[in-house]
Amino acid sequence: AKNAGKGCYRFWNDDFLKESTPDRMMIESLLREGIRQNQLVLHYQPIVEASTGKIRSLEALVRWNHPVKGMIPPDDFIPIAEETSLILQLDEWVIHEVVRQQSEWKRQGINLCPVSINISASHISLPSLLHTFETLVKGKPYLANFLQVEVTETAMMMDPDNATLILNQLFNIGVSSSIDDFGSGYTSLGYLKKLNADVLKIDRSFIDGITTDSFDHDVAKAIIALAVSMSMKVVAEGVENKEQWKMLKEFGCDYLQGYYFHRPMSSDKVYELLERHESV
Ligand code: C2E
Ligand code: MG
Ligand code: MG
Ligand code: MG
Repeated sequence: AKNAGKGCYRFWNDDFLKESTPDRMMIESLLREGIRQNQLVLHYQPIVEASTGKIRSLEALVRWNHPVKGMIPPDDFIPIAEETSLILQLDEWVIHEVVRQQSEWKRQGINLCPVSINISASHISLPSLLHTFETLVKGKPYLANFLQVEVTETAMMMDPDNATLILNQLFNIGVSSSIDDFGSGYTSLGYLKKLNADVLKIDRSFIDGITTDSFDHDVAKAIIALAVSMSMKVVAEGVENKEQWKMLKEFGCDYLQGYYFHRPMSSDKVYELLERHESV
């Protein structure tokens, strides 16, 4: 259970996920039912400013709270949802839940933080995604600036022209975007330039070795320099210790996300944290 978060355990093993077995179909129908019965929950992980450690935004991360199996991490069911149209439903649920949560936090009187939402590969080039956001922000002009999307580099490059179009249209209605897991796939730098994405998120695999592996060290440094030259902001994912923080600050990285600062947490915990944070 290497990637399982705190309080999560593996529902099925990895071989299971790779094969197209009847069990896979069973999981899919369980998930379909789970979405309908509101078994999905969002946890939120703060993203902090590198210079001060202060919270600047949150990333919404979905979990499946199965009545018998308990909390199931996304890596155990997102890949299955991605093979079917279920992923569109799942993403839609996440977007609506984030909006609902933001309205609740607003009502509770805490200072809102932008929340970024992971959008899957098959969804990012669909006009329906734009439509969903347009409809949601229509009566709530304040909202758009508190919603962001994250698309992995690999997802972007599957249909780069359409994905670029949708991201640019989202940008026009105030919803900004990040390129997730950057460095783990292949991006044409030409697209990066055409894209109105504000943020690059450096893949965790480079941060892991940033203080111990000269390749990771050099790649992370180069990605940060690239982002700066394109006037993009950079987030480093998976920061787990002070040494990594120090080095990333030296390289000019803007924002950091990782267990060293905060783990993903329930919306109640976020509320407590943001309430306390305000008075700092
Ligand atoms: P991601 O978008 O790259 O999210 C970051 C992942 O890294 C999260 O795992 C987070 O808990 C983990 N992480 C953060 N800091 C650290 C750290 O310091 N050390 C380590 N070892 N891990 C850290 P999580 O929540 O298990 O999510 C895994 C992936 O599942 C996400 O990767 C994303 O691709 C996908 N995912 C999560 N939520 C959603 C969602 O709502 N919709 C879609 N379509 N995909 C989602
Ligand atoms: Mg992400
Ligand atoms: Mg990532
Ligand atoms: Mg990832």
